[in-house]
Amino acid sequence: MADSRAAALPPGSVVGMLGDGQLGRMAALAAARLGYRCHVFGPTADGPAHQVTNLSTVAGYGDETALAAFADAVDVVTFEFENVPAATAVFLDGRVPVRPGPRVLSLCQNRLREKDFLASIDVATTGYAEVRNPEGVRRSLRDLGKPAVLKTTEFGYDGKGQALLRNETEAEAAWAAIAAHGATETGETVGILEAFVDFRLELSVVVARGLNGHIETYVPVENQHRDHILDQTIVPARISQDAADRAEGYARRIAEALDLVGVIAVEMFLTAEGRILVNELAPRPHNSGHWTIDACATSQFEQQIRAVCGLPLGSSKRHSDAVMKNLLGEEAEDWREILAEPRAYLHLYGKAEARPGRKMGHVTKLSPRGSSG
Ligand code: AMP
Repeated sequence: MADSRAAALPPGSVVGMLGDGQLGRMAALAAARLGYRCHVFGPTADGPAHQVTNLSTVAGYGDETALAAFADAVDVVTFEFENVPAATAVFLDGRVPVRPGPRVLSLCQNRLREKDFLASIDVATTGYAEVRNPEGVRRSLRDLGKPAVLKTTEFGYDGKGQALLRNETEAEAAWAAIAAHGATETGETVGILEAFVDFRLELSVVVARGLNGHIETYVPVENQHRDHILDQTIVPARISQDAADRAEGYARRIAEALDLVGVIAVEMFLTAEGRILVNELAPRPHNSGHWTIDACATSQFEQQIRAVCGLPLGSSKRHSDAVMKNLLGEEAEDWREILAEPRAYLHLYGKAEARPGRKMGHVTKLSPRGSSG
């Protein structure tokens, strides 16, 4: 086990952040509070994260000249966006520590690799199969049972690159729908067919693991989606203590098996029969952990900075219960009303254009612990 004191980067060090969205913005703000600087690398000149630091590189993830200069300018690299090309992480890792490492990134970029990994450490998921064409979809549908969900293995998010199938006759159309969204590096579409989960609710656990192996988990939270986009997170999830313990246990096991240094969000289903099935991993702070900024001693963003800088993690205990609501598109125009509400904490991301469904900000409403549910 590494000696965390020897490995710690002192305040004043520069954290390189791949990705320029709101997650990077909130991490950069957390870094600043502890006296660290964030150098943001991403393609969008007015990206939310670029706006909060004067160290920024606006460039594509494949621009090796820009990446080499970035590596020289920072002490450690982390990311806020897991679809950074794996080659980018490998390129940087040869020059400067990348945390979490390229292996974690690459594993979480592909739903098949991810589910195979989960199976290898005895973490339950729904039944799944690799599929490469409509015939494969029909065959796997017979094995897994109906209905099922067809997904691209890579680059899917917020429900994009997914199709629900009720029977074999829908295989061609479902395949065409996902093929439009995701091809791998080889240009071929590889899909994953998953048995449909009749879930009671969706939950997630955000877990941080430090360079010295210490783990902090946040309480399991309940996620409600609208049009495949997270709408609300309810803290804590309204589940039994036993289910919460199992969910947390899975999250810890995953962080350990990955030898994670950083933060990972584990998205899960609680089935009607009370089983916990892991759906997806995100190796970074997560939308369902935004409530931690206002309701916890240490936010998920501060944990990310602490972990990648080799500092001791902070306490993940919450002082309040919370409901976090995303402000999508024009919902952010309600900022005046939100600001007028006591115990409502507004966060806006500085995005100029409020397109429908775009995450413009969020609001976290706090209540005393134990008062909800
Ligand atoms: P994902 O991109 O895997 O996070 O999926 C987006 C959303 O689709 C999830 O939050 C679920 O609401 C739903 N979903 C994904 N996979 C399944 C499944 N196997 N069974 C039922 N619903 C699913």
